[in-house]
Amino acid sequence: MSVMEMSHRGKHFTRIYQETVADLRELLSVPDDFAILFMQGGGSGQNALVPLNLIARKPARKADYILSGHWSNKSYKEAQRYGDIAIAASSGDEIVVDGARQDPWTWYPTPDLWRVRPDASYLHLCSNETIGGLEFADWPEMRELGAPDVPLVVDASSHILSRPIDFSKASVIYAGAQKNAGIAGVTMVFVRKDLLGHALPECPSVLNYQPVAENDSMFNTPPTYAIYIAGLVFKWIKAHGGIAAMEELNCRKAELLYSYLDSSKLYVSRVHPASRSRMNVPFFLRDETLNAEFLAQSEAANLLQLKGHKAVGGMRASIYNAMPLEGVEALISFLQDFERRHG
Ligand SMILES: *Cc1c(COP(=O)(O)O)cnc(C)c1O
Repeated sequence: MSVMEMSHRGKHFTRIYQETVADLRELLSVPDDFAILFMQGGGSGQNALVPLNLIARKPARKADYILSGHWSNKSYKEAQRYGDIAIAASSGDEIVVDGARQDPWTWYPTPDLWRVRPDASYLHLCSNETIGGLEFADWPEMRELGAPDVPLVVDASSHILSRPIDFSKASVIYAGAQKNAGIAGVTMVFVRKDLLGHALPECPSVLNYQPVAENDSMFNTPPTYAIYIAGLVFKWIKAHGGIAAMEELNCRKAELLYSYLDSSKLYVSRVHPASRSRMNVPFFLRDETLNAEFLAQSEAANLLQLKGHKAVGGMRASIYNAMPLEGVEALISFLQDFERRHG
């Protein structure tokens, strides 16, 4: 019998579920005061569920957002319908960093630039901008920002399980499974337990963190097969040395690729070095008339899905946990070969 046929309340699936949660808790050292929820609706669903569950924590119904690219902008827009939503910081402007001009959405606003309202119900951050290729994992203490009672909410969809998470800094962390934890259909949500129980009355029960937490994600039928696959991925990560080993490998992969791009005369990475993502590496050919030829030849060499998102253009290599070092080496040797022929 396959997992797809089993009752989610039967003893077989219950065991799969419990092991999956325990492995995830162990891998990320999730403290006991955090509930782990498996929900549906994806990372995008959380853009609505975060305000639905948290904005009424304080009567002013305010929430602040850090805008750093495509995904944080989507979160910010979705939240608008639930309260008084403000921008705490944005990298949507061109600025000069370290004496060099930095394009919009190619840098992360550092915490010294954040303006957080102390009566906001939460502050939202996307810690890895998948499309722009930016990562920000050194989260500040909200106390240091003069907002001790503003919990930090983080969309970590595209770098969860690639590095440790500091649960002393963030209060809610969410991530769709499909980038580093398996197949689409399930979203992991880590919620500090004291934040449960503040949902707006119109929040559907199946999407309300509190009943979902109280029922071990089985308030209704959870996406059992996606949970089963995530459980297998967690076991794979454990067998390969856990999060520390993932992080070490991801650093090696990213360093190899960025250092080649920086040494090249044909390709360029436009993201500020301090904000470069280990997971998503956008790059451009300085001569963009070569784009079509580059994509045709890379595909012929079995290097697939290198075309950048239409919002950014150029190329993008997504090198999630599942991409081995050999895959990055193969990409670099193709890039070198193409440069030799066109440089
Ligand atoms: C992919 C992604 C999402 C969207 O996930 P869905 O499951 O498609 O809703 C949200 N945030 C980030 C940072 C992502 O990379």
